[in-house]
Amino acid sequence: MDIQAKLLIEVIILFTGISSLAWAMLAGPMTIAPQACWRYSAANALLMLGLVLNSLRDGSASYIAWFGADIVLLSGMVLLRLGTVFLFRLPLNFRPDLLIWLGAAATMLVVPPEIKSQAYLGAVFSIAASILFARLAHTTYQGLLPSAGPRLSLLLVAPLIVASLSFFARLVVILVLENPEDRFISIQTAEAVPMLWFYLVLTISINVLAIGNALSRLIQKIRLLADKDVLTGLWNRRSAEHSLMQLHHKWQRGGEGFAVVLLDLDHFKQINDNFGHQAGDAALRQAALLMKSTLRESDILCRFGGEEFLVILPGVSIKQAHQVAEKLRLCLASRALRWDDQDIPLSASFGFAAISPGLNISQLLCAADQAMYQAKAQGRNRVVEAGVAPLPPSG
Ligand code: GH3
Ligand code: MG
Ligand code: MG
Repeated sequence: MDIQAKLLIEVIILFTGISSLAWAMLAGPMTIAPQACWRYSAANALLMLGLVLNSLRDGSASYIAWFGADIVLLSGMVLLRLGTVFLFRLPLNFRPDLLIWLGAAATMLVVPPEIKSQAYLGAVFSIAASILFARLAHTTYQGLLPSAGPRLSLLLVAPLIVASLSFFARLVVILVLENPEDRFISIQTAEAVPMLWFYLVLTISINVLAIGNALSRLIQKIRLLADKDVLTGLWNRRSAEHSLMQLHHKWQRGGEGFAVVLLDLDHFKQINDNFGHQAGDAALRQAALLMKSTLRESDILCRFGGEEFLVILPGVSIKQAHQVAEKLRLCLASRALRWDDQDIPLSASFGFAAISPGLNISQLLCAADQAMYQAKAQGRNRVVEAGVAPLPPSG
């Protein structure tokens, strides 16, 4: 037995073992993306077990050392992809994996598990591993693409593509070697050292990539939570202000203009006082849902304060903003809140304004706010344009 080979085998076993435990920690006590982390944990455990079984190969026939080792390693590869699918919430499409796995297992069982079959077994294993790594690379690329863009995603999945190509190259070597049966390379010999280095770098790269994936997913989730209102699921004030700043910045550089509609539910305190806080919460949720279904995908609906909402309308003129506000007013007033077998009428007062030269964001919001208070003063359930003479009562 070669000392360097033995050491490398031990390092890989140690590394995959520790990785398996670390992923289990993330999935279990820390409950970070548990579905994905359990699969990554199991994948590492299987890669470790596969290597241990593989190192049992010697002159004797053994299903465990030959067939068992290969199938366990292939299962680990399938689980790596499943983990990634769950992490990025991608469509599963498990059938091809199952077919590759079953196909490899059935083809391997045709020959006896011993040295004489090594070229055949090696070829079957290499085809299956090459396809599984290609699928893993594709899935990871799909998952990373939205946040990392095409170039960085391609760079990150490069080790997986290299792995897939390496297994394919191994298949070619096995097929073109004249008498491959002559050379049995046990992984415990000096000749296997380059291959062991390859396995070590591969398992490290896979785990580093998986950690990167999990972190990017976690950061996305935290960002989303920080930007959302818990009760209604709408964007919160913080994110509204961020969107407004971005739009203002673009507009100042010659981009499209935008308008805002600020609205405040009428006599909302009465709903709380007469029907309870729960009814008030339900009214807020209903208002959010109704307005969301009325607005376009590109419009940004935010809960700006207690019972105050802000709609940001990119690329919308003051005239169009008026139409949007009127549409929202009608849709809110047309549907009462059903609570304890009673209908509680809902309505809101609206102020709207569009960006124009000389206005900054807080002045724009202030103008919309003043218009909204005018709408309240004029009797509520109406729409008022900022900075112009009071409109005739609507509806
Ligand atoms: P107006 O027509 O003038 O706007 O009257 P109003 O009663 O709607 O306004 P007021 O500012 O007097 O009351 C707003 C109420 O909204 C008071 C506050 O307790 C309630 N509120 C704020 N946030 C929430 C919430 O998240 N849930 C519930 N149930 N009530 C809330
Ligand atoms: Mg109110
Ligand atoms: Mg208010």
